[in-house]
Amino acid sequence: MRKQIVAGNWKMHGTLDEVQLLADQLHAATFHLQHHQEIVICPPFVYLMMLRERFRDRREFHIGAQNCYTEPSGAFTGEVAAPMLSSIGVEYVIIGHSERRQYFHETHDMLARKINIALQSGLKPIFCCGEPLDIRQQQAQNAYVEKQLQESLFHLSEEQLRQVVIAYEPVWAIGTGVNATAQQAQEMHAFIRNAIATRYHAALANDITILYGGSVKASNAAELFACPDVDGGLVGGASLKAEEFTRIVEALA
Ligand code: PEP
Repeated sequence: MRKQIVAGNWKMHGTLDEVQLLADQLHAATFHLQHHQEIVICPPFVYLMMLRERFRDRREFHIGAQNCYTEPSGAFTGEVAAPMLSSIGVEYVIIGHSERRQYFHETHDMLARKINIALQSGLKPIFCCGEPLDIRQQQAQNAYVEKQLQESLFHLSEEQLRQVVIAYEPVWAIGTGVNATAQQAQEMHAFIRNAIATRYHAALANDITILYGGSVKASNAAELFACPDVDGGLVGGASLKAEEFTRIVEALA
């Protein structure tokens, strides 16, 4: 059965006190997850180790980073390498978030190299793709997302791609409060799955987890997650509120 995930991207939020409080609240919550369902928490780098320890006794929680560098080590002041992340028990890493593409000018080629080093280090990449508003308005979203997949992901072998989670995050829905409709999400997720089937094969496409991200809330999660090709969500703002996030996770059930 395909893995289902609700991942929380905490972005650059939270002082130590705030993060400890949120972690305590999440740790205390009860989830009714099946064996193929997971929660991934992606805090800022400085809290990764602490949260790894905090959730060690909670089987359903996994820890992810929000980024890694393209190189395994070296004179790259301020960067964090994928082998460092895996060495402290981080399992996932978000790669290609639209904020990284927009504010830090991460190119398709850089993202392909980040995917490679993440996989070589034993991390599971959560690869973000998705179109900006003007592309959606031109109805050109499929070609746009297909290029993102082709340029940064489709060089992988079948075995490598099996380790990757894809997150479709339309840029116009991120942090705006305006989510894609369930129909828009389903159409794009089916398109992505079909693109994988065309490049690789249908059985592999059927096994890849594809998350939806963009203004997921407790009030819309169940409808989005009920779409046949939507395997959970990548959640930004709503992942910072324990009760709201817990309700989003429960929408997987
Ligand atoms: C995100 O940052 O990946 C995201 C989806 O943000 P939000 O849920 O706040 O739209």
